[in-house]
Amino acid sequence: MADKMHKTDDEWKRQLTPEQFYVCRQKGTERAFTGAYWDCKEKGIYQCVCCGNDLFSSDTKFDSGTGWPSFWAPIAAENVKTEEDNSLFMQRVEALCSRCDAHLGHVFNDGPRPTNLRYCINSASLKMVKKE
Ligand code: FE
Repeated sequence: MADKMHKTDDEWKRQLTPEQFYVCRQKGTERAFTGAYWDCKEKGIYQCVCCGNDLFSSDTKFDSGTGWPSFWAPIAAENVKTEEDNSLFMQRVEALCSRCDAHLGHVFNDGPRPTNLRYCINSASLKMVKKE
């Protein structure tokens, strides 16, 4: 993983769309079945929309039926970090970009084998780069 990146809210606002800023920098959630990638089946790498950090591979993407892109593992453990999230009266695990701290989504324990994890990620946090 590359070095940490820090930018001010003003810098992020200039770089991101309003929805990307809301999801990534204000821990928002896009509406299910509205994002660019929930139904994407192309081969490639999903990068952080904020900093370009490689986050997920299409090889671990699965159809969760939730309307959000879902993965059973990050591309590398050190690229996606997790933190406890006790907001909204729920106990959840938040997934963030390790490099720029972008909010990505949440991690649940009802995923498929081999990890049984489900990284439930906002399309707005991702930029997909296709593999040739
Ligand atoms: Fe990032």
